[in-house]
Amino acid sequence: MLQGIIFDMDGTLTKPKVDFAAVERDIGAKVGFILDYAEQSSPEERARAMGILERFEEQAAMESELNEGVTEMLEFLQKKQLRTALLTRNSRKSVDTVLKKHNLHFEFIVSRDDAKPKPDPDPIFLLSKMMNIHTDHLLMVGDYKYDIMCGKAAGTRTVLLRYKEYVETEVIPDFEIDCIKDIVHIIEHFEKAKLNTHGKTNF
Ligand SMILES: [Mg+2]
Repeated sequence: MLQGIIFDMDGTLTKPKVDFAAVERDIGAKVGFILDYAEQSSPEERARAMGILERFEEQAAMESELNEGVTEMLEFLQKKQLRTALLTRNSRKSVDTVLKKHNLHFEFIVSRDDAKPKPDPDPIFLLSKMMNIHTDHLLMVGDYKYDIMCGKAAGTRTVLLRYKEYVETEVIPDFEIDCIKDIVHIIEHFEKAKLNTHGKTNF
């Protein structure tokens, strides 16, 4: 039975905005994932790189725009009494800026300040505890392969919001959608599966 849905933020609830090429330009090297680069760097370089990343993240959060249909979709989930959570590799500060700007509220939030970043499953295990929902009953929704890898490693069902060619063949999501509003159809799918088995669920 589906009880809770975990959403990625950048690119899933909001349109992707962080200009990672500009972050690299300011860092002064092609570094790939900034969090991985920072992790492997000296304390001084880590602090410098994270300072640059946080500056760009905050700018992107202030300028953020919601993906079409996000507000309606969250209202739908609330009516269905499904619990919702936010899981992001961003800082908690940028999460707060985005939520405040768009008047959104999540009871459960895990940022990189709270747990290891995706694709590590730790942040989902933490959310599972916070929400008091077993990972079998959670759905992880995101627009990047790390969201799917994280969900799979933690044992949740996964949904890929596909508008980029990001997912490699070895990480196949349970569901794919082109628009965040289509979450509604996935919920209906779960409800139908439940009905078909006379109250027992197939999932
Ligand atoms: Mg994303």
